[in-house]
Amino acid sequence: MPLEIIRTWGGHKVQIQIPPVEETIKPSPSPSQVILPLVDNKGYRCRPLVNVGETVYIGETIARDDNCQMAPVHSPVSGKVTDIKNTRFTEMGLVPCIIIKSDGKDSYKSDFDPIEDFMEQEPLTIIKRIQDAGVKLIPYDTLPDAERRGSKITPVKKFVINAIGHGFSGTRSLRLIIERKEDFITGIQLIKKIYSLEKIYMVINEKHQENYNILKDFDSLEIVPIQVKYPMGHPHLLFKRLFNKEIPSPNGKALDFGVVFTSVDTVIYAVDAVVRGKPLIEKYVTVTGSAINEAQNMMIRIGTPVETIIDNINIQSSDIGKIVFGNPMDGTAQITIEHPVLKNTRWIWFQLEEDVVKEPYRACINCGDCIDACPMRLMPNLLGRYCEFYRFEDAADLYDLFTCIECGLCAYVCPSRRPLVHLIQHAKYELLMREKENEY
Ligand code: SF4
Ligand code: SF4
Repeated sequence: MPLEIIRTWGGHKVQIQIPPVEETIKPSPSPSQVILPLVDNKGYRCRPLVNVGETVYIGETIARDDNCQMAPVHSPVSGKVTDIKNTRFTEMGLVPCIIIKSDGKDSYKSDFDPIEDFMEQEPLTIIKRIQDAGVKLIPYDTLPDAERRGSKITPVKKFVINAIGHGFSGTRSLRLIIERKEDFITGIQLIKKIYSLEKIYMVINEKHQENYNILKDFDSLEIVPIQVKYPMGHPHLLFKRLFNKEIPSPNGKALDFGVVFTSVDTVIYAVDAVVRGKPLIEKYVTVTGSAINEAQNMMIRIGTPVETIIDNINIQSSDIGKIVFGNPMDGTAQITIEHPVLKNTRWIWFQLEEDVVKEPYRACINCGDCIDACPMRLMPNLLGRYCEFYRFEDAADLYDLFTCIECGLCAYVCPSRRPLVHLIQHAKYELLMREKENEY
């Protein structure tokens, strides 16, 4: 299997199996049960619109946030709601989830009609459809309230379509361009119709430049090939690379400069929502790791438990030592094989038992390696200590907790194996939850 060597900001190298460019994206079979959380990774919540025992269809809206902070949830299968109960997630703790048992019929009843003549429609009609379909063309946490509510379009000058992820680019975006080129081009027309743009950039891995020649006749895009160094594709770092300016941290946003970052798959989901009336019910995910024979790009229904994926890719669950959602640098190991594919899942990484490092982490030896590695010029050693001892506010006030982009480089280089990025993620989530305590 091809191994890609990913170079990192501090000059380190990481090896990872990637699906070959020639391999098509494989659809994962329909799951027998789906688990759909009513809380997102920022702590925002949806209200269920269905009751236990109710019959639902694919595409039906089953949960909605009246404050439009969390994207609505749609059923990815047809069947019966069997429970609405708390389920434990590694990152979020106990969260309420809708559980649907599939009837195996895949009966479709979307709440939306296709808008085939979208070029004739008002931009607000299009953006509202995209949002009602659960697609975040622009990340919600950067959007003003009025656009999330579909009453105003935010001025945007430049759109950046990121085909390299945070630096673990793999081949998923490229396969999508190859397999859904016409839809991707429709997506660009859609974006131009909504926003009065100066320019649309597409950032690609320079190693795949030749493959992107299929877009060379399409002059609405400026293709920017770059030498990928993890976490180069993070908006803060990509912004600097493209525009030679820094987004002020921790509260600055690319949107303050009229710039939006999105991904190839998000553009495709937006096209499905508008042109086909299909809400976001499945995700393009790269499945890789030492425990599987062949890395694959797959299309998986949201809510599918990871155990269903294990059954379908032919691996022995006894061989798996660790399952990580996310890339090897910033992903999170899961505590149960019931963990479902979520709207933000892009990588699932299965590690062989013999490859799992079980050594406990040790005290910081003040070597400073994490400081050298940090692309945001933070002090991960001190951040880690404050977060470890629950001094979250001090970590935020004294050491810029919220400037951290959670790339995981500090933890990767730490000789004491300190789980710095996970301590930081936990502290951020705790502070966000405390902030929201009074909102619900
Ligand atoms: S502190 Fe944050 S930004 Fe810096 S290396 Fe660690 S995870 Fe990356
Ligand atoms: S790399 Fe690890 S041991 Fe070295 S200063 Fe950072 S936290 Fe401490």
